[in-house]
Amino acid sequence: MSDNSVFPGDKIASIEEYEAGHNTFDDGDMVRAATMGEKDMDKETRRVNVSHPKLLSIPKVGDVIIGTVAAVMSSMIAVSIDYINGKPTTSKVECICGTRNMRIRNVALVNDIVSLKIVAHLNGTIHAVMDERELGIIFTKCRKCGGKVVAKSTDAIKCTDCSWIDERKLSSSFGKNDFIHLRE
Ligand SMILES: [Zn+2]
Repeated sequence: MSDNSVFPGDKIASIEEYEAGHNTFDDGDMVRAATMGEKDMDKETRRVNVSHPKLLSIPKVGDVIIGTVAAVMSSMIAVSIDYINGKPTTSKVECICGTRNMRIRNVALVNDIVSLKIVAHLNGTIHAVMDERELGIIFTKCRKCGGKVVAKSTDAIKCTDCSWIDERKLSSSFGKNDFIHLRE
């Protein structure tokens, strides 16, 4: 953080002095930051830009991420990244994880929390896998009633409310952490 750091909504300049540029907007009175980043006041063009520290938040191949399942498709899941190697990130970059070869029908549900390893960047998409012991679902709920579930094995869960048994690829850290608190 420096003196130029801004948070979303921060007032940067009066619209009489400056025009809104990248990652900024004007509210009719002030130019404000639309994202977290570093402000840059261009005195020649009279424009304000905010540079988003996005590059710092993109995981590299080999990084382990923890994220929230944003979408479940027939052969993959999309995950919004919350942590990279244990460090929180606010940029909400998404990665995808193929599930076609997993022999489990309900690999994950939307809003489950998963741990994945990044394996490739292809055509602007970040690809991840969950085929290691510590990777997989960290937090999930019952698909039937939304109740709390417990692990029955490494790939099965049981609801403590309605007793529904379901499949998941569970991480070895399933049920051993407090990520639930971070989300509520
Ligand atoms: Zn249930």
